[in-house]
Amino acid sequence: MKNFLQLTRHTGNTSLFLAAEMSLISILQGLPFHIHAEGLRGTGKTTIMRSVKQILPKISRIKGCLYNCDPEKPHCPQHAMLSPEEIALIGTEEIPTPFLEISHSAKIGTVAGTIDLSKLTNPTHPEAALLPGIIPQAHRGIIFVDEINRLADTSPEITDVLLDAMGTKPGRVQIEETGLPLVEVPVSASVWAASNPDEEPGPLAEIRRQLSDRFDLVIPTGRPSTPEEVVEILAMDEPLRRNDRDISPEERKRLEQLKTNIEDIALHCDLEMPDYLTNFLANLYINYNIESLRALEAIRQAAILHTCLRKRTQVMISDIITVLPLALYHRVIPATLTEIMNTVNNNRMIENEKKKEGPAFNLPRLFQQKQGAPQQFTENTPPERAQSLRDLPESALIKKETKN
Ligand SMILES: [Zn+2]
Repeated sequence: MKNFLQLTRHTGNTSLFLAAEMSLISILQGLPFHIHAEGLRGTGKTTIMRSVKQILPKISRIKGCLYNCDPEKPHCPQHAMLSPEEIALIGTEEIPTPFLEISHSAKIGTVAGTIDLSKLTNPTHPEAALLPGIIPQAHRGIIFVDEINRLADTSPEITDVLLDAMGTKPGRVQIEETGLPLVEVPVSASVWAASNPDEEPGPLAEIRRQLSDRFDLVIPTGRPSTPEEVVEILAMDEPLRRNDRDISPEERKRLEQLKTNIEDIALHCDLEMPDYLTNFLANLYINYNIESLRALEAIRQAAILHTCLRKRTQVMISDIITVLPLALYHRVIPATLTEIMNTVNNNRMIENEKKKEGPAFNLPRLFQQKQGAPQQFTENTPPERAQSLRDLPESALIKKETKN
């Protein structure tokens, strides 16, 4: 298999690389970010998603904890009640960020959890205990589901467990086993899925709309669209065919650098959405009658992650424009998405024109936020006696400025 560096980025897959990196940063920061790649067979969706395994940083957990308890915030049935001293006695260990797959043959017990047979059949000390399944074991990591549309069609039970795990951030998983008390654990894992909407049973949005809406972004993945890109892919493949596709020492070093870079961003990037952009999103929601508030939350989170990835300190309208189509792709009809993008882009162009004239940044006209009354003319000055700014004597202006 090609490694992460050997995969050529082209017009058909750049958004997927971007979304995967954003999701990875988010989960390292403790917040899941679910992504779904949709595209035809052969577009490399699953290869790209699986290759991210090579740049997963390490996380620290309570030694041997299958639920990946954070030593600072233990959450599993075994460690949640322990004091920091007791945890220190058990010790901690570093493991790679979990990346676990749910296959189509998976049983509900494998996915959620089941009775731990090894403990039950232990000849010296038999006991009934739970063995956490894939979802709780992927806590603080990634759960990968290929052909999620098929899974949703054939395994409604597993789909329900996924819905629970993705319903809130963090989500939750219930482990049920006859004869044992029901256990519910919080789980914070990003779900990464792939599907081919043109194959049976069709697009996920039509199979299980609720599950489709749980994904923050849907990334349409395609083939390269220019001959130049194809040439580049072939050139990249050539040495791979001749070598035995091992990772060279230079590549290993670059993969390590990528890992450190992602870790660094996750650790240091802590941004808020500026108010005017939140207002912008609220207007979008109302004006276009967007069905789920989840969409707005997804745009907000994605725009912040995009800003982090670009190593900027302020979220801008351009960040929203980048993520908007991916957050709305599965949530509005194509005509509405086109209309929204046209409006946003037009307004942005007007903004860029205005910017050339002066430094003031106003909102796009359509999404004008409620402006507070101008400071100079509040309360003390009734509107009918309001003076225009240029009519004020210079001393008054200066006085205002120092007062503020
Ligand atoms: Zn634990």
